[in-house]
Amino acid sequence: MNGQLDQYTIELLDHLCDPVPGASAPGAKEKDTVQDLLQKARQEERTGPIVELFRTLKELRDHSSLSARALGVSREELERLARRHQEIDEHMVSVGGRVGQALAIVGQANARVDDYLERKDREAPSGIELWDRIQENQERIRKALAMDEEAWNSFAGQIRHAVGSVDELASLIDLPPAAVADIARVTRNYRMRLTPYYTSLIMPGEINDPIMLQSVPTGEMVDNAGIEIPPVAADHSPARLVDQFYPRVVTIKSTNMCAMYCTHCLRIAHIGRKDKMFSKDAYGEALDYIRVNPRIRDVLITGGDALVLPNSMLRWLLEQLDTIDHVRLKRLGTRVPVTAPMRVDEELLDILEASNDIKPLRVVTQINTAREITPVSQQAFRRIAKRVFAVLNQAVLLRGINDSRVKMWKLCETIQEACVRPYYIFNCSYRNPQFAHFRVPVEKGRDIVESMYGNIVGDAIPRYIATAGGKIPMHRSNVVGREGGELILRKPWNGEVVRYPDADPDVYGSSDFSFSRYTS
Ligand SMILES: *Cc1c(COP(=O)(O)O)cnc(C)c1O
Ligand code: SF4
Repeated sequence: MNGQLDQYTIELLDHLCDPVPGASAPGAKEKDTVQDLLQKARQEERTGPIVELFRTLKELRDHSSLSARALGVSREELERLARRHQEIDEHMVSVGGRVGQALAIVGQANARVDDYLERKDREAPSGIELWDRIQENQERIRKALAMDEEAWNSFAGQIRHAVGSVDELASLIDLPPAAVADIARVTRNYRMRLTPYYTSLIMPGEINDPIMLQSVPTGEMVDNAGIEIPPVAADHSPARLVDQFYPRVVTIKSTNMCAMYCTHCLRIAHIGRKDKMFSKDAYGEALDYIRVNPRIRDVLITGGDALVLPNSMLRWLLEQLDTIDHVRLKRLGTRVPVTAPMRVDEELLDILEASNDIKPLRVVTQINTAREITPVSQQAFRRIAKRVFAVLNQAVLLRGINDSRVKMWKLCETIQEACVRPYYIFNCSYRNPQFAHFRVPVEKGRDIVESMYGNIVGDAIPRYIATAGGKIPMHRSNVVGREGGELILRKPWNGEVVRYPDADPDVYGSSDFSFSRYTS
């Protein structure tokens, strides 16, 4: 039995037991409360009542200047209970540590997320929380487009009935006449296409609805000043359909089609104005390039949207890649699980799993708001996640869509609950004036991303990236200085500065390392 009381407990006991000069006497109510707690702490073989007694005594001491003795509890009694607490606790945690330290630390940590918890469902409701209203929208849109349930629930039906003109859109959601005229002007130059499903995520009456911002082009796209910088692909495409920035990863731009066309699309030039089918010859040339380049380890099938490809083509492409020895991993880039989740059927899942069984396959998606996670898209992602190595999200930081702490935390947490891992947050590109209005300052993005550390779980925190001829991580350094062998680090969540001894360079540089010690 360990009779020793630790420093935390001794300090707490001193604090509770020292008489307070000039303190008024406790009321009967306080005394009764304390005596009740004391009874429980004596009788029960549990830590909880002991903690509750000490916590209450501390509160009465801190806020009402009442000492334990004044409340009728002796120091000896408290010491006995403190010893018993330590005996009961599996990790021999002292009551002084728990009440004096841990509860206070947890209290401070809680305060960091209280504001988020209070605001998240109001400021950034997910499609799950809005599901009743989305279903009402779906009923209305389905009837207006004369779609039966079967058409609604099939990918082909969603594409066949896709909303491609402003008049059609105006008949489904409330659009002010000025917006209609402007959208008509812009869509002469840029494509608009929303699946009926994606359209149903728009909340009528919401100005700058985050779904509309992503899918309905506005006048800014043509009015933004600036000369378009040519698409990067032109100088990074070493072979037909192939883009290459890095030695060991290439992308195959497998189609120019998407189920929905994003207003902030980086590939806007490649998407063009009309759907094109690519020939097997084109894929063949891309595969030939990969086949003869043994450095290439990871192949990303993108588009447009890879899941717009028919299953037969997708299966063939994955099979081809799986026959190339040096290709060890694959990825599919797609927004279809958020824009048309009906695409995710058993046949597709079987194709993904079969390929993943041969070499790991990841699905990389783009979800920008919690709104895009509905019960239907959540289900689609969870089903995919069961069949592949990982489902990763690349969000784009976009003004009005996700440019606040509350919205971004909520996005990351909501997608994680759909088994999607936050991977990247891209600062919106400077290359295309079409979406200059969506850009958010880098510093603001950093504040948002860094606010996640210590407050949401580590595997829900993405990396913040600016694309400038490759992906450049934008993390502000948490290393604020160095003194001798020590780094000065700042905790991003509360600004606290701590010293961190770095590895000893002499030890690190020594030849006397590990197994080398056995050779001389
Ligand atoms: C993003 C990207 C990659 C892959 O980048 P990771 O950092 O490995 O995810 C490869 N090629 C191109 C052209 C890309 O845009
Ligand atoms: S899904 Fe991707 S490729 Fe297609 S329009 Fe959106 S951002 Fe562009």
